[in-house]
Amino acid sequence: MFEFLLNDEEKAFWQEVRGFVKTVPSQLIRDMDAGKIETGRPFIEMASSKNLLGPRFPKEYGGRGLNWTAEVAAVEEVGVLGNSLSCAYVMPSIVGEAVHRFGTKGQKEKYLAPTLNGKLYSAEALTEPRGGSDFFGATTTAVKDGESFLLNGEKRFVVGAQDADWFLVYAKSDPRAPAHESISCFIVERAMGIQVQNIYNLLGTRGGGTGRLVFKEVRVPKENVVGDLHNAYAIFNRMMIPERLLSGAGCLGAGRAALEVAARYSTRRKAFGKSIDHFQAVNFMVADSVALLDAARALVFASAKKVDAGEDGRRLVSEAKKVGTEAAWQVINNAMQIMGGIGYTTVYPIERMLRDCRLAMIWTGTNQVMNLLIQHEYYQELKKGQGKARDIEGDAITPDEEEKHYG
Ligand SMILES: Cc1cc2nc3c(=O)[nH]c(=O)nc-3n(C[C@H](O)[C@H](O)[C@H](O)COP(=O)(O)OP(=O)(O)OC[C@H]3O[C@@H](n4cnc5c(N)ncnc54)[C@H](O)[C@@H]3O)c2cc1C
Repeated sequence: MFEFLLNDEEKAFWQEVRGFVKTVPSQLIRDMDAGKIETGRPFIEMASSKNLLGPRFPKEYGGRGLNWTAEVAAVEEVGVLGNSLSCAYVMPSIVGEAVHRFGTKGQKEKYLAPTLNGKLYSAEALTEPRGGSDFFGATTTAVKDGESFLLNGEKRFVVGAQDADWFLVYAKSDPRAPAHESISCFIVERAMGIQVQNIYNLLGTRGGGTGRLVFKEVRVPKENVVGDLHNAYAIFNRMMIPERLLSGAGCLGAGRAALEVAARYSTRRKAFGKSIDHFQAVNFMVADSVALLDAARALVFASAKKVDAGEDGRRLVSEAKKVGTEAAWQVINNAMQIMGGIGYTTVYPIERMLRDCRLAMIWTGTNQVMNLLIQHEYYQELKKGQGKARDIEGDAITPDEEEKHYG
């Protein structure tokens, strides 16, 4: 961890979360992985009893009034517990961002506060069977009917489908408008009529009750529209900060946990008469892993600090998600390799970490979608910077303009 990047208040919170993580029973992790528990609610109740959820939100709604830097430090610690629990931990922060920034006071009191104090369990429903990457192509519809909206359609892969009390749902409210002005965001209570059609069997990140939701004439009062009608574009963009930044942060913890187990193992396991940490083939994998995690962590913290500074963090946040998740994947693979055959068994938790981590490169926007955003932002910056800095091309040995052909 980069404690040196934290001020006293941030450090105190980070230490509190670190202490809490130590107390979480292994049996909970095992039971979720085995599908004996299909909800993150027990964990959310534990975390909320210590007032650890949604630390960025104001104290009046149950947060701590902290910043993104404190939150990424905390989420890295929770990441040590695995993807299922870190997903449960960040969900109030993701849906909370939408409600806190765009919602009414009434919505904050009715949904945000009880979510942060563990009385309500929340979920987000963006992805549809038709596709998740093309978010603005949503086909779930919301049609005004008197003082409410009628929602029809399906959402897929929703963590919390099994047990959440309320869902943040995006639906097409103006099908004739351009895609970016056609979607609205709704708070939908399960009790308003949401049906669960399937709970998926997953490779990893199990125990969250991830399922497909069906909306058939689900009546949602107009008071539950978040922000302006047809203007969910802004909400979606904002929500993607916690969604992606915290995905990256959680993965740092997962990678760190795997590396710790493997590096300790390497100091005890012997081959050819000495412990395997003496073999360069092993200790260089440790070195590569440490450096990868530090590089990813630097990016995650830099992104958090940029957002804390009120700047547009789109490129950095997308990079933090991509690099954080890929670093963790590589590090966990290295850890398994260091441990040899026993790492592939359930005697150590590395195999679960590997299964869990694969998802991180797919959800919250695939890493290909992150690349789309990164290149888009970069080309924009390049255009804006044109002519403002040194003419680097001019440093060529023979900068012959006539030889520069662009087709
Ligand atoms: C276990 C699990 C939990 C999840 N939890 C949630 C949740 O709680 N709530 C929620 O709303 N969603 C959730 N998701 C959905 C997740 O965010 C989506 O699966 C993801 O965004 C990809 O969407 P898709 O699966 O429809 O793939 P598609 O969008 O069909 O993409 C398929 C492939 O095409 C590529 N692709 C698509 N478009 C482009 C493009 N323009 N350029 C380059 N490549 C492209 C993708 O990168 C991918 O490789 C979850 C998914 C899983 C598996």
